[in-house]
Amino acid sequence: MDYLLETNSLTKQYGRHKAVNSVNLHVRQGDIYGLIGRNGAGKTTLLKMISGLASPTEGDFTLFGKRGKSAYRYLSRVGSLIEAPGVYPNLTAEDNLRLKSLAMGVRRKEEIEELLSVVGLLDTGKKKVKNFSLGMKQRLGIALALVGSPDLVVLDEPINGLDPQGIAEVRDTLFRLNREKHITLIISSHILEELSKIATHYGIIHDGVLIQELTREELLAKCSERIELKTDDARKACTVLDDMGIRRYKVIDQDTIHIFEHLDESGEITMALARHQVRTLGITVKNEALEDYYLNLTGGAAND
Ligand code: ATP
Repeated sequence: MDYLLETNSLTKQYGRHKAVNSVNLHVRQGDIYGLIGRNGAGKTTLLKMISGLASPTEGDFTLFGKRGKSAYRYLSRVGSLIEAPGVYPNLTAEDNLRLKSLAMGVRRKEEIEELLSVVGLLDTGKKKVKNFSLGMKQRLGIALALVGSPDLVVLDEPINGLDPQGIAEVRDTLFRLNREKHITLIISSHILEELSKIATHYGIIHDGVLIQELTREELLAKCSERIELKTDDARKACTVLDDMGIRRYKVIDQDTIHIFEHLDESGEITMALARHQVRTLGITVKNEALEDYYLNLTGGAAND
């Protein structure tokens, strides 16, 4: 499998503390990769390393197929918004973009208008950035990350502190960048519920360690509503479920089955099993919310 970005045991150590500990991250072209982790989990440090803003203590990364030192040559194809966007508050959005374009040697005049349009700031005219809402500032930060037409854009907590409307606007902008401009995105957040509305792939980071990578489908399957059935004979129980016309179930181990349909028929299922001499040891309807799933993995209460 070819990845647009792959990190190889990437590690960053501050003193004796490993802020990022041997992380192997896998991002394909076209992904919206959600990096989820609590405050202090190591998200910013990881994103800084893959944007070339911090150097790893150990490990390296492969970018556009080039590994190690060669990968650094491709960092010009990576745009990033990490921590607060560096903007000039007394200038307009257009002037801020013009300055960044100049600094990066981007000469195409139409690009600024295109960028303002893609982040929905075309009508801000002479308004100075200091008078922007937080959402507008954040969208300008995204536009600044897009100067030079990067293929990969890395955004650290782009929805942090935004109100629901601001969140929706940033989300729409990100969708458009991904669908229309085919930009691969890595977005960090400490709120899985928010990422779940946009990300196609997830990496869960905790205490500097990437504890799981999974696709959107895998995450939804883990969090979907289901009957958890414990029996003394899962194999025989499957035959009974088949006879009842139940098709969407999964055998977890020799005495556990997860059933994803007929959720209000646990009584009927128990009775049918009993008729076939299969004992029901436990039957419960579970609906693990996204946030619960994440908290179970990382052990403990959320922070914000
Ligand atoms: P947040 O959302 O709060 O920024 P995060 O997941 O982005 O959290 P990081 O900012 O990457 O986490 O920090 C990870 C750990 O590394 C934290 O324990 C932090 O205190 C530590 N850390 C980060 N930068 C430095 C630094 N320059 N020097 C020392 N320790 C640092």
